[in-house]
Amino acid sequence: MTARKPPLGPSTLSVHGGEPPVRAGRSITEPLVLASTYPFADTAELHAFMQGELDRPEEYGRYGNPTVAAVEARLAALEAGGADPAVAAVLMSSGMAAITSTLLAMLRAGQHVIFTADVYRKTRVFARTYLSKFGVEFDFVEPNLGAIEAAVREQTKIIFTEAPTNPYLRVVDLEGVVELARRARIKTIIDATFATPINMRPLALGVDAVIHSTTKYLGGHNDLLGGVVIGKAGLIAAIREQLGTLGGICDPHNAYLLGRGLKTLALRVERHNHSALAIARMLEAHPKVAQVWYPMLESHQDHASARQYLGGGGGVVSFELSGGLAAGSRLVDAVTIPKIAPSLGGVESLIEQPALMSFYDQGPEGRAALGIREGLIRMSVGIEDLDDLRADLLNALDAC
Ligand SMILES: *Cc1c(COP(=O)(O)O)cnc(C)c1O
Repeated sequence: MTARKPPLGPSTLSVHGGEPPVRAGRSITEPLVLASTYPFADTAELHAFMQGELDRPEEYGRYGNPTVAAVEARLAALEAGGADPAVAAVLMSSGMAAITSTLLAMLRAGQHVIFTADVYRKTRVFARTYLSKFGVEFDFVEPNLGAIEAAVREQTKIIFTEAPTNPYLRVVDLEGVVELARRARIKTIIDATFATPINMRPLALGVDAVIHSTTKYLGGHNDLLGGVVIGKAGLIAAIREQLGTLGGICDPHNAYLLGRGLKTLALRVERHNHSALAIARMLEAHPKVAQVWYPMLESHQDHASARQYLGGGGGVVSFELSGGLAAGSRLVDAVTIPKIAPSLGGVESLIEQPALMSFYDQGPEGRAALGIREGLIRMSVGIEDLDDLRADLLNALDAC
């Protein structure tokens, strides 16, 4: 009789997912293996390996590394909600490497991709600069089901979405997208960086591949760059095969740091969810604040999808002051705990004005066309004490 293993929770999986029964030297943590190559005992062993007769995972560093593989196994288990041989993960050198390598591996000339219009800015730049160069067509559409459906063509191979998005935290109707894609035999990819596997479970909804910039919540400490693609084992194997050519592999040091950060993911995300919601509510009630965007606020445009697909709203809160860009700058300069910096999802709170940072190069007209308001402020709420963050923001609001 084989007893069914009880399902494990996300905190347990963040710490133990994909663990082998025994590690090298019986150590409790995965060893950090830095080797670039793995010697063969003799030519007979090499021959057997080349014939595919050896169960020996490593050969050369660009094709695999045991430290990286251990973290990949943990990420796959976490995203799948438990050990599942049908789900695999492949780590890469950055979120952008994960996005570009996945698209390059899956697409060929003549095919078509639908992107929701508010995907990560460099994902859009990649489509315009590279996909067009390689004869892949694409459309950017509003993140709603009707607009996505209207863009489907005979040649459509991929629907690429993101949730929640930057900076307005839109949440598309994921089940609707999956349903539509299945009917039309289209693959679905979601960049779920803002959600994390703690707040959203895209694979359980039938999405084919989930991408995270591990630079953000999964690493969680603002000390590494990385990306991961998680999905059906066959698809991930095909992407991994191409990664050997494209070369954007994850360095073992980086994987080790990620594996360490990942162990506290569930704890951190709980705190981010709780503090960000409290801060969003406080800002919404403040007379100097014109509007607040947070998926778990009843006032958010996609609150219904957010309630359906998200366990929590995450750490990012966007808001606009009545006084526009200048008032926003006064606030950003007056806070003492959040630092002015790009990125999000780390233990340190960060704050920025999209008009002065991520959308600066677009100019006022470009920003207006993209719906990026001049007075917008984006805060990534860290894990500092909520009372301290609230007091800091209230003081800064008084000052501006
Ligand atoms: C940061 C980010 C990326 C890019 O990840 P890098 O690790 O910086 O390359 C992609 N998508 C989203 C949603 C992000 O926030």
